[in-house]
Amino acid sequence: MKITKIDYEILVWPELDPPFWMSLLPVNRPHELIVKVFTDEGLIGFGHTDQIPGVYQIDSQGEPIAGNAASILPDLIAPILVGQDPTRIEALWNVMFQTTFQSRWNRYGRTRAQLMAVIAAVDMALWDIAAKIASMPVFRFMGGTQHSIPCYMAGGYYREGKTIEHLMREMKVFRKQGFNAVKMRVGGESLDTDVERVAVAREALGPETWLMLDANEAYESVAGIEAAKAFAPHDIFWFEEPARWYEGASVWKHVANEGGIPVAGGEQAAARWEAADLVESSAISYMEFDGMRTGGPSEWLKVAIICEKANIPMAPHHGPLMHAHLVSAVPNGLLVEVFPDPAGYGSDDELEFTRWDRKYEMFSSYPDIVDGNLMLPDTPGWGFEFDEDAIGRLRVQRR
Ligand SMILES: [Mg+2]
Repeated sequence: MKITKIDYEILVWPELDPPFWMSLLPVNRPHELIVKVFTDEGLIGFGHTDQIPGVYQIDSQGEPIAGNAASILPDLIAPILVGQDPTRIEALWNVMFQTTFQSRWNRYGRTRAQLMAVIAAVDMALWDIAAKIASMPVFRFMGGTQHSIPCYMAGGYYREGKTIEHLMREMKVFRKQGFNAVKMRVGGESLDTDVERVAVAREALGPETWLMLDANEAYESVAGIEAAKAFAPHDIFWFEEPARWYEGASVWKHVANEGGIPVAGGEQAAARWEAADLVESSAISYMEFDGMRTGGPSEWLKVAIICEKANIPMAPHHGPLMHAHLVSAVPNGLLVEVFPDPAGYGSDDELEFTRWDRKYEMFSSYPDIVDGNLMLPDTPGWGFEFDEDAIGRLRVQRR
């Protein structure tokens, strides 16, 4: 079997008005890069990655068009792959990876992060093809057996006009939907206000539900320790990215030890080496390496082996449709992160709390979430298909 063609689309959603906020940054425009790898035997591999900086830009009319990162695939990656056997995944990954250190990328003003995101989407498509050849879902192809994967609901964002009552209702909706684990943001308001928000969330969720906090690096080290101490009485499962990258991973260890909440992190690790640094410095208790945004399933599996040796569970950031397979396939897979599905909400009023969910429209089929578990389908490959009508609506012009 040979790769004959690689096609891609950049999807950009309308601007959110108002945006919702993580701790320090608004999310105002969801966007995706989707990849299709075609073969001479008719099998097509699907992959995707999202929120790559520079994959689109705004033209003089205010419309989104392709950005400088968009041509990484046709210019650098496709020439490596076309004509190759798609099942040689490890070899192809290593050749693609060379684009990150041969400085070719530099000439075009692209970043390593952009390249690693494109490699992730392509690697995902190659695993899709390999599993489809075997007529197996990816998790079984990788040796996994568990098809029901625990999820946590990532909500509790900031938004202009969002009150503490709104937060309480949001948390109750998640509980009603059957989630046994819920994440919320902290660090975007004063500590007093955030402690009040966390207390309200804990009350709404009840004592049994895992409650995770994500600070998105909002605190400098001492502030992170103080914040952890203030949140800890509310029975917090993990404290995510509690301090800033420039202070080094060991600061997270101090936050965990002195603040009294286990720390989760790794969603920004560029590759297995940075992930290993977090493990070796005892900075984290949960690994969130994001194989959809960097390096793909191949790299994620290597990070999982590093973490298994240190008894660190894998709790990957984002990308649940891919990561659920990987969590199933490794002995230290814990759970995946999911985002609200509008069908599960009781009213438009409650729907306003997050708009990330609108991205699901790019799929014509994707796994169900039942009682807080993502149900991996038995269909060959990753188990999702793209919706060509939605792609037609959302795609931006390529150069
Ligand atoms: Mg996070």
